[in-house]
Amino acid sequence: MISIENLVKDYGDTRALDGINVEIPRGQVIGLLGPNGAGKSTTLRILTGFIPPSSGSIRVKGLDVTEHPTEVKKMIGYLPESAPLYSEMLVYDYLNYIADIRGIRQKADRIIELSELCGITNVMHRPVRNLSKGYKQRVGLAQALMADPEILVLDEPTSGLDPNQIVEIRSIIREIGKEKTVIFSTHILSEAEAACSRVVIINKGSVAADGSTEMLKNAEEGGRSLELLIEGPSEKDAESFFGAFDDVSLDDIFQNGDGLKAVINCKNDIRKEIYLKLKDTDWILLEMVQKKQSLENIFRVITREGE
Ligand code: ATP
Repeated sequence: MISIENLVKDYGDTRALDGINVEIPRGQVIGLLGPNGAGKSTTLRILTGFIPPSSGSIRVKGLDVTEHPTEVKKMIGYLPESAPLYSEMLVYDYLNYIADIRGIRQKADRIIELSELCGITNVMHRPVRNLSKGYKQRVGLAQALMADPEILVLDEPTSGLDPNQIVEIRSIIREIGKEKTVIFSTHILSEAEAACSRVVIINKGSVAADGSTEMLKNAEEGGRSLELLIEGPSEKDAESFFGAFDDVSLDDIFQNGDGLKAVINCKNDIRKEIYLKLKDTDWILLEMVQKKQSLENIFRVITREGE
């Protein structure tokens, strides 16, 4: 549905995007993840027709966003990083005004529908300026959804919100994602994990990783981590024990009340080898748990590469 091909954007001497390629099928909820300055907003601004690319293209349902800006804009609802709201207006009047601009026929019905979806029925007659940031974001979402676009683009929709507001906005995004293609940017990893089926990690203007959160967690870059609790060995014993394995690094090692706790990182699944080798000792294995890498770890590994 959306096809981003070799997208490049230069701001003067700064190359913000350096050849982004992403295909987004209909109905996917996709998180654009990356550290500050990675190029997320720039990508979304090009997609929504606010700025042109330096080279490359974005096509939405086959239409190039630069050549067919009006048609493409009709298919996209956009909530920029800070929602452009008219602060003096009442929420209802603001949405009514947006409905007029977008040429909505059954205005009153549509506004009621959106106020319920976005959870703003109780603030419809309050001035926008008196709303909390969380409610402003909801009004911004209602604005973006007014013309029932097929695609919803949200730039850092939860930035600056408190934890409760974040959970609420996330659940609205999930609800919307049941029917629409949703692309949102964030630098909060748990957000991507909680709300999307796919994550594209952008770093320094390029795609550094692309896949489901599960797939990224299983990816080899991150490796895996094993936590063991063994009765018997000293820290020194354990260091030489694990030192005998290839591609294993000791992350942490300490004695706790029950025995020696060791946290190791390894490329491959070596649980069996560890068990068999332990059988040759007189130590007792109390626990062995394999943990997948957290998305945080993967993100750090990916975005630090080349530094
Ligand atoms: P953030 O999370 O901080 O918003 P981002 O991933 O959205 O970051 P962009 O805002 O797309 O990143 O910025 C990418 C790069 O382009 C950064 O180096 C930024 O400083 C630069 N940049 C963005 N907008 C402009 C502009 N209007 N003029 C010059 N440079 C810009």
